[in-house]
Amino acid sequence: MNASDLEDVLWRSVTVLGSTGSVGKSTLSVIGHLRELFGADAFPLEALTAQSNVDALAVQAREFRPRKAVVGDPSRFERLRELLDGSGIEVAAGADAVVEAAAAPADVTMVAIVGAAGLAPAFAAIGRGGLIALANKECVVAAGAVFRAAMQASRAIIVPVDSEHNAAFQVLDFAQEHAVQRVTLTASGGPFRSWPKHRIANATPEQAVAHPNWSMGAKISVDSATLMNKGLELIEAHHLFGVAPERLDVVVHPQSIVHCLISYADGSTLAHLSSPDMRTPIAVALGWPKRVSSPSRQLDLAALGTLSFETADRERFPCLALAENCMRAGRAAPTVLNAANEVAVMAFLSRRIGFDDICGVVGKVVDRLDGQPAGTDLESVVAIDAEAREIAEAAVLRLAA
Ligand code: NAD
Ligand code: MG
Repeated sequence: MNASDLEDVLWRSVTVLGSTGSVGKSTLSVIGHLRELFGADAFPLEALTAQSNVDALAVQAREFRPRKAVVGDPSRFERLRELLDGSGIEVAAGADAVVEAAAAPADVTMVAIVGAAGLAPAFAAIGRGGLIALANKECVVAAGAVFRAAMQASRAIIVPVDSEHNAAFQVLDFAQEHAVQRVTLTASGGPFRSWPKHRIANATPEQAVAHPNWSMGAKISVDSATLMNKGLELIEAHHLFGVAPERLDVVVHPQSIVHCLISYADGSTLAHLSSPDMRTPIAVALGWPKRVSSPSRQLDLAALGTLSFETADRERFPCLALAENCMRAGRAAPTVLNAANEVAVMAFLSRRIGFDDICGVVGKVVDRLDGQPAGTDLESVVAIDAEAREIAEAAVLRLAA
C-alpha cells in the first residue's frame, strides 16, 4: 500500500468517543497499525473520551497523543489531570465536555460510546459534519426518525461500523434501491445458540458475556446472547438504509464470516465476507471511500471449510421477536425497547435479575407504553427514554425483591 494513493485520507484528524471500550481500543489499534506503516503523523488525534476509566484513558493519551482527553465522570477530573500532567494534553471532564469534544472539528468522529448515553455526543458530531464512524446502534434505535432527519439535514457522511451495517454499506447499490428485495443480517446465534430453553433461563453473566466469535463490551455481549442485539440491528438498518421492516431479515450463521446479504430483483444476492474482527469495519470507516490497511486476518475459506446457516429460533430467543414487533409497531416502541433493555441488561449483569427476566422486563415496559407517539426531537426522545427507564427500574425492583 502506497502513501501517495492514500494522501487524501492519511492525515485525517480523528476524535474517538468511548476510546477505552472494545470498539474504541480497536480503533486505536487500527490507527497504531497505520502509523507504523505511514509514520507517526498519520491520523492525528483530536480528542479521546471515556466515561470513568481515567487510568486507561491516560495510557492511551500518552501513547496516541490526542490534543485533548476528556472523562465523562467529573469526579475523575483531578486524577486525569495528575496522570497527564506535563504531557501537554488538554484535559476536561463532565458530560458537557464530552459533547463539546464531539462538536469540535475533526475529519472523522468515531462514535463508540455504549447505549443511549451516546445520543447527545452523536447528535453534536452529526450536526458539525465530517465523516461519522458510527458504532453506537442504541442511539439510532432510540432516536429513529429524529436520527434520520439529523442525518439528512447534516453534511456529515455516516459510515456504519456495526459489522453487518458496514457490510451492507459496502454491498448496497444505493442508486438502485428500488431493486433491493431483501437485506439479511447474519447473527452468530451467541453463546446459547444450541442450548435448550431451560438451560438458557438460568444462564449466568459470565456465560452470557463469553461470546464464541467476537470480543466485545459487556452490554452488547449480553444483547448477543439474548439476540436482542440482532433485533436492535434490524431497527438500525431500517433507519440507516431506509429499508422497510418487511424487507429486513435475519439468518443465523455461527461462523460470523458472512455479515450481510443483499438480494436484488434479478435473483442476485451479494454478500460481504470478512474475519470476525471489528478492525475491518473500523478501517473501512477511517479511510472511506479509500481502502486502508487493517491488522485483521485475511479470510482463508479452505481452512474454514464450512459456512453454515440456520433459522433464528424466536421461541428460545424471544427478545428477537419482541424487537421485530417494536420495529413494525414504530412510534415510540423502539425507544422504549432500547431504554428498558439497557436497564434490564445492567440488572442482569449485576445479578439483580435472571437471564430470562431480561425479556420479561423489556416486554412489560413496551406493553405499558404501547402506542406512545415517537419523539419529535432529541429532547422528547430523551424524555421517553427516561420514562421507560423508570418503569423498567420499578419492574427490576419488584423481581429483585
Ligand atoms: P464498551 O462498553 O466496551 O465501551 C463503551 C465506551 O463508552 C467506553 O469507552 C466508556 O467509557 C464509554 N461510555 C460509557 N458510558 C458513557 C457515558 N455515559 N458517557 C460517555 N461515554 C461513556 O462498549 P463497546 O462494546 O465498545 O460498544 C460500543 C458501541 O458500539 C455500542 O453501542 C455497541 O452496540 C456498538 N458495537 C460494538 C461492537 C463490538 O464489537 N464491541 C460491535 C458492533 C457495535
Ligand atoms: Mg453487529
